[in-house]
Amino acid sequence: MTGRYQNTIENVAELKGFGLFTNADVTLRFYPTAENHGIVFQRTDLPGSRRIPATIDYLAPEERRTKLVRDEASVEMTEHLMAALAGLQIDNCLIQIDAPELPGCDGSALPYVEALLDAKIVTQTIKRETFVIQQTESLQQKQTTISLAPCDSGLRLSYDLNYGNNSPIEPQVADFSITPETFATKIAPARTFILEQEVNYLRSKGYGQKVTLEDLLVYGDEGPIGNSLRAPNECARHKLLDCLGDLLLCGCDVQGHIRCFRSGHRQNHQLAKEIKRLKNRSSIERAA
Ligand SMILES: [Zn+2]
Repeated sequence: MTGRYQNTIENVAELKGFGLFTNADVTLRFYPTAENHGIVFQRTDLPGSRRIPATIDYLAPEERRTKLVRDEASVEMTEHLMAALAGLQIDNCLIQIDAPELPGCDGSALPYVEALLDAKIVTQTIKRETFVIQQTESLQQKQTTISLAPCDSGLRLSYDLNYGNNSPIEPQVADFSITPETFATKIAPARTFILEQEVNYLRSKGYGQKVTLEDLLVYGDEGPIGNSLRAPNECARHKLLDCLGDLLLCGCDVQGHIRCFRSGHRQNHQLAKEIKRLKNRSSIERAA
C-alpha cells in the first residue's frame, strides 16, 4: 500500500470559546490516540454517554452546519475543526468537549490549526487508507454540482461561487492542491460568511446572540460590515474549508480532483457518502 503514514498529536491541546449557534461556553481538548483510532468526539458534560466517531454514519440532518449524533449526545459545527484535522493530516485524535457546540473562534479554522501545531504532529507506524477517484462522476442537487475526476496525485479542490448579480458577494473561484502547507496558509484563515438579513433571521430564532462582527464575516449591501477580507476570494476559500472538513467524514484520504459549484454542507455530505460507497464497492471487488 502506497501513501503516507497516519498521524496523531504529541501533546494535549486546549481551546476555549463559545458556540456561534448555541451561544454556550465550551472548553475543547485534543488528546493523542493510537493508530486506526480515527477522529472521535466525547461530551464530558454528559457522563456515561458513548463516544461519537466522526464518520458519516453519525451524521444528523441540520441546516447550515455539520452535526454528529449518537444516542442523546450530539456535537454541532464540527466542520471547521474537521477541516483543520484533514488539512494537517491528523488522523487519530480524541476530542473532549463540555458543551454541544464546538468553539466558533473567528469563524475560520486558524485557531484550531494553531492549537494542533502547538501540540506537535507525530507520525505513526501504520499507513493511512487512500481512496483514488478513477472515473469522472457528477453529483447534482437543484442548482448545485459537485464533480469528481481523477488526478495524478493528492487532492485538488476547486470551488466556483456565484450567487448572481444581486448578491453583495461577488462571483469568485478558489482552486488549491491540498497539502498541510497550502491548507494552513491559504484555506484555514478563511472565515464563515453570512448575509446581514440572515443574521437577523437567525437571531430572531435565538441563535448567535453572542456573535459580533469579529466572529465571522457579515455582508451588507456594500460588502463586509466592519471587517476587511483576508483574501479577495475568502468566501470561496471558506467553502473549500467546509468541503474538506465534511469530506473527512468518509474516513480516508481522497486522491482526485473535486470541483464544487454553489454547493454547501448538504451536498458535501452527499459527497462523503458517495466516496464511502465507492470505497466499499472497490474493496468488495478486490476481495472477489
Ligand atoms: Zn464553515
